[in-house]
Amino acid sequence: MQTREEIKQELQDLADKLERYDEAYHQKDAPLVSDAEYDALRRRAEQLEAEYPDLIPENSLSRRVGFQPASGFKKLEHAVPMLSLQDIFDEQDVIDFMDRLHKFLGLPADAPIDIVAEPKIDGLGYSAVYENGKFMRGATRGDGTVGEDITENLKTIPELPKTLKSADLFSLTPALLDVRGEVYMKKADFLALNEEQKKKNDKIFANPRNAAAGSLRQLNPAITAKRKLSLFAYALGAYEGVPFKTHWDFMQSLKAWGFPINPMIRLCRNTKEMLDFFHELGEKRASLPYDIDGIVYKVNDLALQKRLGFIARSPRWAIAHKFPAEQATTILKKIRVQVGRSGALTPVADLEPINVGGVLVQHATLHNADEIDRKDIREGDTVVVQRAGDVIPQIVRVIKEKRPADSVPFEFPKVCPVCGAHACKEGDDAVTYCMGGLTCPAQAMERLKHFVSKDAFDIQGLGDRNIEQFYELGWIKNPMDIFTLRENYELRLLGLEGWGQKSVLNLFDAIEKAKTVSLARFIYALGIPEVGEATGKLLAAHFESWQNFADVSTSAEAMAKLTEIDGIGETMAQDIIDFFAEEHNQTLLQKLLSVLTIQDAPKQAENLPLKGKTFVFTGTISMPRDEAKARVQELGGKVSGSVSAKTSFVVAGVDPGSKYTNAQKFGITILDEKEFKKLLDENNK
Ligand code: NAD
Repeated sequence: MQTREEIKQELQDLADKLERYDEAYHQKDAPLVSDAEYDALRRRAEQLEAEYPDLIPENSLSRRVGFQPASGFKKLEHAVPMLSLQDIFDEQDVIDFMDRLHKFLGLPADAPIDIVAEPKIDGLGYSAVYENGKFMRGATRGDGTVGEDITENLKTIPELPKTLKSADLFSLTPALLDVRGEVYMKKADFLALNEEQKKKNDKIFANPRNAAAGSLRQLNPAITAKRKLSLFAYALGAYEGVPFKTHWDFMQSLKAWGFPINPMIRLCRNTKEMLDFFHELGEKRASLPYDIDGIVYKVNDLALQKRLGFIARSPRWAIAHKFPAEQATTILKKIRVQVGRSGALTPVADLEPINVGGVLVQHATLHNADEIDRKDIREGDTVVVQRAGDVIPQIVRVIKEKRPADSVPFEFPKVCPVCGAHACKEGDDAVTYCMGGLTCPAQAMERLKHFVSKDAFDIQGLGDRNIEQFYELGWIKNPMDIFTLRENYELRLLGLEGWGQKSVLNLFDAIEKAKTVSLARFIYALGIPEVGEATGKLLAAHFESWQNFADVSTSAEAMAKLTEIDGIGETMAQDIIDFFAEEHNQTLLQKLLSVLTIQDAPKQAENLPLKGKTFVFTGTISMPRDEAKARVQELGGKVSGSVSAKTSFVVAGVDPGSKYTNAQKFGITILDEKEFKKLLDENNK
């Protein structure tokens, strides 16, 4: 039996894990674990929370949707929230869902409730707002309340109507219409994209969903325009001026207005028709040109939908019935460890080829070292392989009875199989990274491109293609070679096709200028795992000088001091510490520092009004958390993740967590949202 304290801890661990997985999946389009594994953790959390509602952590998945918008995008608020759907897996769950509807609506058990059943498209949800028939703006779901502005990206999708055709059921043009749907990538387009990416040595997408999300959520819409994206419309947000009575009518209007709607949607009169549709579609699934991962059942009558309303993160009037994953058994011949361009060591299983749900499978991803340990996967094992929407199959489990007598546990390499630098793993399920980041050949080209990119050293004339060319010629193998290019290769460069005297001089000029670089750009350019542009700025603002940053990161208190900074978690701190600990990196840093001038971050102006004040946020306020933090920082204040005696103010929104009680304990001034805004306004004069 677990104690209450243990359950509380487990719930907190689950919430933290799911939050991290959500960030990777929704914000970075790069899932850390399989959907099946994510869903299993989520179900465990749901079960525990149902039993112990008083122990639900502040950041529980049940209290939020998706993940907050990524920082590069403009934000758009949804007038009607974009929610998630509750998942169910069994036929009995469908029967229970219908029972719940009857009970909630006070209807006799045999009263008919019409349901529209729709394929659940495995893509990325979007909202597109039309005013007087014209497409005005569009957004991702984001955290359900605020999404990322993808107006220009959506415009590049040919299937998205830019103007509504006027011939809807009512011959009306709505004054306002927010149409939601799914942007997805057809299986064939996904395979073609990956082929092309491979040729360009660019990021390979794990499955069509990630490819669709990664293509749509581009800061540069010109990239989206080059990708083949498709869409289906299926839901209604805010609207004015159209008298819809049923979801079915709404869908027919969408079609008349020019939106692609899924041709297989079906109006079901009872549970049997719903389940028949589920089985029919399950059989068709593998042969469809796009991925679906289940069926969504929606109450047809909009008046009933309104009465049913919402539970925390999903509507009560709809539910997602997920398909089971497709599985088969085969032999695992060998475990290979590959090094990706990001430096991640990814184990891959070579399998005896096997047919899984109509697709020949020869490899499966093993994700990371922990997954191999946890499932005790060994070379020579007989394993159950699964394809679940994901195109890269996974190993579900080992059939231990069939294990050869001489089998030995797999030993994950402690050094990078490509360059021999240390390979380090952080956290309890994190990826192992090669720490030779700046020098490892497996990562070098990508790291170099990153190093000279616009937000890093921004060296004009050293674009991706030139980096590739110089790398292949062996002239630039690591960042230091950029700064010695002139002395080593000037003459040969002048003789290279496509390079005239002027372009060569311009390039050397740009390289010379880049020798003076801001601290934030320098930190970002190093390509430390997890340390993006925003974190680069954050660290620069905090440490002010390179020396200071390097001293702290190599000191015994590095972990404590780094995690004190709001926005730096343990994983990121560990990545920074590991980066500095790697000898290869130290050698390169010394060389770089001998030619570069790293400008200190501007000191916080002494007279900023909130200088010396530390803020801690808890609970939800109407202003996005990032914005609230930014406002405090602009005024010279600091934001911390935990309450201590040094905290000046705790800003408590709706549903504050334990930080609130801690603040009371320490006798710290607690501000509600109104008081917080007043404080900002007063200090902003
Ligand atoms: P969801 O994807 O299970 O369901 C909600 C979404 O379904 C909606 O937002 C909408 O975009 C989509 N949808 C597709 N067709 C639809 C239709 N016809 N009508 C209405 N909606 C339709 O829920 P979620 O919260 O977006 O994501 C959770 C799922 O995502 C998990 O079950 C998991 O499989 C996956 N996930 C995986 C990871 C990971 O690390 N692998 C992390 C987070 C989420």
